[in-house]
Amino acid sequence: MPLLHTGRRRTKLNRSYNGPPRQGPVRHISPAQLNLERVYEQNRLSVQKKDGLKAPEPAPGPAAKGKPRLLLMGQRRSGKSSISSVVFHKMPPNETLFLESTARIQKDSMHSFMDFQVWDFPGQVDFMDPSFDLDAIFGEIGALIWVIDAQDDYLEAINRLNSTILNLQPSYPNVNIEVFIHKVDGLSDDYKLDIQRDIMQRIQDELSDHGVENAPINFHLTSIYNHSIFEAFSKVIQKLIPHLPTLEALLNDLCRACRFEKAYLFDVLSKIYIATDSSPVDMPSYEICSDYIDVIVDVSEIYGWDRPKEYIEFLEGPPWNKALEDQVACRDAESAILLTDGKRPIMLREVNKYLALVAIMCEGSYEKMPSVTMNVEGTVKGLTEVFEITKQRK
Ligand code: GDP
Repeated sequence: MPLLHTGRRRTKLNRSYNGPPRQGPVRHISPAQLNLERVYEQNRLSVQKKDGLKAPEPAPGPAAKGKPRLLLMGQRRSGKSSISSVVFHKMPPNETLFLESTARIQKDSMHSFMDFQVWDFPGQVDFMDPSFDLDAIFGEIGALIWVIDAQDDYLEAINRLNSTILNLQPSYPNVNIEVFIHKVDGLSDDYKLDIQRDIMQRIQDELSDHGVENAPINFHLTSIYNHSIFEAFSKVIQKLIPHLPTLEALLNDLCRACRFEKAYLFDVLSKIYIATDSSPVDMPSYEICSDYIDVIVDVSEIYGWDRPKEYIEFLEGPPWNKALEDQVACRDAESAILLTDGKRPIMLREVNKYLALVAIMCEGSYEKMPSVTMNVEGTVKGLTEVFEITKQRK
């Protein structure tokens, strides 16, 4: 039974309340325009150096500094647009059947707990072509995600990935390369692992033949038809969070103090988890927490409505004479639900308008709810402070 803010006011944990729209229009950008924006940015920086004072605003787009960038690359029809649409635009996986294949570079800016960009590269673009400004593409990259279609012949995809890594290594040796072995739905577990082993071997052999050892490459088995794609993105994005160890330490302390089985800090819209405690992540617990967010958001949308001004005045007037916030136990969304399997309750607590803390409690936790609530409050305060500090540093 959700204890959702008693429905007095629309909770902040609400899709329509999530600040600037994250699903902004996708920009199509040609290689020439990419170069142009780069030149514009270089020009702006040199003017800034000279004048030390007034410089034009940064060009919107790739040159806008300070946003970690995720590059999605791979062969045509490997699933890049589908991944981006399902994870960041809540598109139901079945509808990706009607998506047009990526034909031009598509840039997508996400405004969330941290601002980042996803660039979807068409499979046929040869960005090693000298007409491309590599620095504009890879200069500020957070991670390069290479999508390989596991249901297709993947040798060509591996060859292209190998040549990309070899080309990038001299200038950008620290770029994180995340290989998504994609569309693994429908493949048996043994077959998935065989494919992963084969792909890893082929890449390693090729790289070590060229004297490249220990390149930062990670492999993920993914599909848009289950949570594996969200899990993979969670791992990719966690590497971009500088204060991750602090977040993890806070969640570990919370789990220890409240005897939680597992705690996740979720980005509410994408349902990527940006931190978790150190106990191993198991798919069912991640899935149930992630589905639970959907339930809470949906309930909030139904029952959390904007009340007319007069009605709020009436509620805040005599005999209560108190602001609505002071009349309810908690200003933010909070809920608890009892799972039927194993009798493990799940709790959710809003951290800010982008993030929510979701934890699986152990059996019998209801009796200890007051101390659980107190500890959760403390953790939420700590998490908020961590984000405040990093915001100030920026
Ligand atoms: P792109 O050219 O790389 O952008 O590829 P698309 O995103 O257009 O995807 C090509 C096709 O692959 C579409 O018909 C998708 O429905 C399908 N697809 C994408 N991801 C998956 C997946 O995880 N599993 C399966 N079975 N099909 C997928």
